[in-house]
Amino acid sequence: VFAHIVQAPEDPILGVTVAYNKDPSPVKLNLGVGAYRTEEGKPLVLNVVRQAEQLLVNDSSRVKEYLPIVGLADFNKLSAKLILGPDSPAVQDNRVTTVQCLSGTGSLRVGAEFLARHYHERTIYIPVPTWGNHPKVFTLAGLSVKSYRYYDPTTRGLNFQGLLEDLQSAPSGAIVLLHACAHNPTGVDPTPQQWEQIRQLMRSKALLPFFDSAYQGFASGSLDADAQSVRMFVADGGECLVAQSYAKNMGLYGERVGALSIVCRAADVAGRVESQLKLVIRPMYSNPPIHGASIVATILKDRNMFHEWTLELKAMADRIISMRQQLFDALRARGTPGDWSHIIKQIGMFTFTGLNSEQVAFMRKEYHIYMTSDGRISMAGLSSRTVPHLTDAIHAAVTK
Ligand code: PMP
Repeated sequence: VFAHIVQAPEDPILGVTVAYNKDPSPVKLNLGVGAYRTEEGKPLVLNVVRQAEQLLVNDSSRVKEYLPIVGLADFNKLSAKLILGPDSPAVQDNRVTTVQCLSGTGSLRVGAEFLARHYHERTIYIPVPTWGNHPKVFTLAGLSVKSYRYYDPTTRGLNFQGLLEDLQSAPSGAIVLLHACAHNPTGVDPTPQQWEQIRQLMRSKALLPFFDSAYQGFASGSLDADAQSVRMFVADGGECLVAQSYAKNMGLYGERVGALSIVCRAADVAGRVESQLKLVIRPMYSNPPIHGASIVATILKDRNMFHEWTLELKAMADRIISMRQQLFDALRARGTPGDWSHIIKQIGMFTFTGLNSEQVAFMRKEYHIYMTSDGRISMAGLSSRTVPHLTDAIHAAVTK
């Protein structure tokens, strides 16, 4: 009965690693993967995460019972405070409902399923380009996906005018997906002034913000700075949704820890929203896993561990920023044609190089360097040792 099934294509992002793994070359370099690597090219488990795990393992009172449908209560409260701010009036007024979900992706999906069932406008606007999973997550949840202009390839910066025009012509009430910081794949974010203009426009048209926060603290090294866009929207008292991921900022990728917060205008509304979120979650996966959320809650509620986390987070962000500088300097020194200043202007884990799919294919074939076909490279996958190899490859690709 399954013989007719055709082979599905690899995921465009995760498929890069599949191809990389098959390559026997000793100089191969994987810049496709959206995960942090040390200077030695190794995955990193934060010390503070190891400490938290040790505490959890040594605590014999801990059991493996099911969590509630909405997840671990402490984790949810602390996650809302982390993104909205410790003194957020919305949190203090109990106007926010937060549910633990399966990392950022799961949080987006649960939020989208909720909106498809209960919100009056089923259209969501996503930026062009955006993380490749966004259109699939939202479409499968039952939303209709439209796009707004975001990136301008000629300036390698924000197409702010296009963005405003597209949001201006969106139907009143439409949902708008916003990357809270470190836009993936472009690394281009609006300035605080531009965010304010976006906020005013969206509120004047009653557009509903759905923030995707996958890189809080990872972009600038500051948890507060990277949450400013979200906090700006919450400060005006209006509604919004936020999907948080602890994959990058705590290095908990495979633990699948995240949270969906829905900010409402009143506590009773938030209570009813939560009751409906439970109906979304229960038939999907019943309740979320306990281990990763316990790690996060242990770290967030302990002053010392929290402080240590901020230091380790800053160290990761700083290494990425330093890789940007090193790659930029190396291309300059090499005299590679083109203006490469976008490498140091963009923020977050990725650089949107501007290399086209042909150049990407050339670099894979000739230099065993792997990246997504849109020319996005993970700066976290780079090290001082591998910068020269990448520089050679980019130079060859643009001068061939
Ligand atoms: N949103 C964006 C913009 C991302 O880059 C990612 C991770 N690549 C995610 C969401 C979700 O990641 P995860 O489900 O691993 O938290």
